[in-house]
Amino acid sequence: MRPYVLDGHTHTIASGHAYHTLLELAQAANKRGMKAICLTEHGPELPGAPVPVYFSNYRILPPVIENVRIYKGIEANIMDCTGTLDIPKRALPRMEVISASLHELCLKPSTKEKNTEAVLGAAENPNVDWLCHLGNPHYELDYEAILQAAKKYNKLIEINNGSFFIRKGSAQNCVRIARRCAELDIPIILGTDTHFCTDVGYFPYADRALDLADVPDELIINLDANRLPAYLKAKNRHFLTDPRPAVDDVFSDF
Ligand SMILES: [Zn+2]
Ligand SMILES: [Zn+2]
Repeated sequence: MRPYVLDGHTHTIASGHAYHTLLELAQAANKRGMKAICLTEHGPELPGAPVPVYFSNYRILPPVIENVRIYKGIEANIMDCTGTLDIPKRALPRMEVISASLHELCLKPSTKEKNTEAVLGAAENPNVDWLCHLGNPHYELDYEAILQAAKKYNKLIEINNGSFFIRKGSAQNCVRIARRCAELDIPIILGTDTHFCTDVGYFPYADRALDLADVPDELIINLDANRLPAYLKAKNRHFLTDPRPAVDDVFSDF
């Protein structure tokens, strides 16, 4: 397996159907050799997901926990066939990474045309950084149209390691998507979609899909810890800093 240093897709108990805390996740990521992970809790419209203030309070989290840089973000739900997302407005400035996904509890699978329109709407949204688990066979999609849009709007494409055992029937689609990304020179980000911390940073299925699709290492965001921040900085994304000032600064007027 390639030497990955980033996991682009993780959840904690806050997402309502995952089973570890952020601290446990960070510890497991550190043990796995991850330098960074993206905390992509489910958007508030998915049943059980965090309330909007959970996201706007992200500023309270230290940037690095257990030696792992935590990029605070959201896996936003695509809510309709125009690609409307459930990103809480007030939390938007506190988001370091934003991904977008189709989930059946938020938008039922429809025709290929309608499903594709929904994803295209998300791809056109300037806030979105990458599109997740497009290989899900429950949604018939026009991959060519979506990947051309990803190219045009500078989006990354996720290959989701969890899809290979959670969303059965994804493998063919994921290899096809990865192969076309390689041809179109679209960077790929791998995500484990961790819902229990033993999965974090471990990409056995996605790694094999990259082999089968002949994806060059230069296009794989997760192989170098500088690639994700470079992509985000180029989009003028604001990173959260630790809000805790030096004690002397707080009491300088006394
Ligand atoms: Zn998802
Ligand atoms: Zn997820």
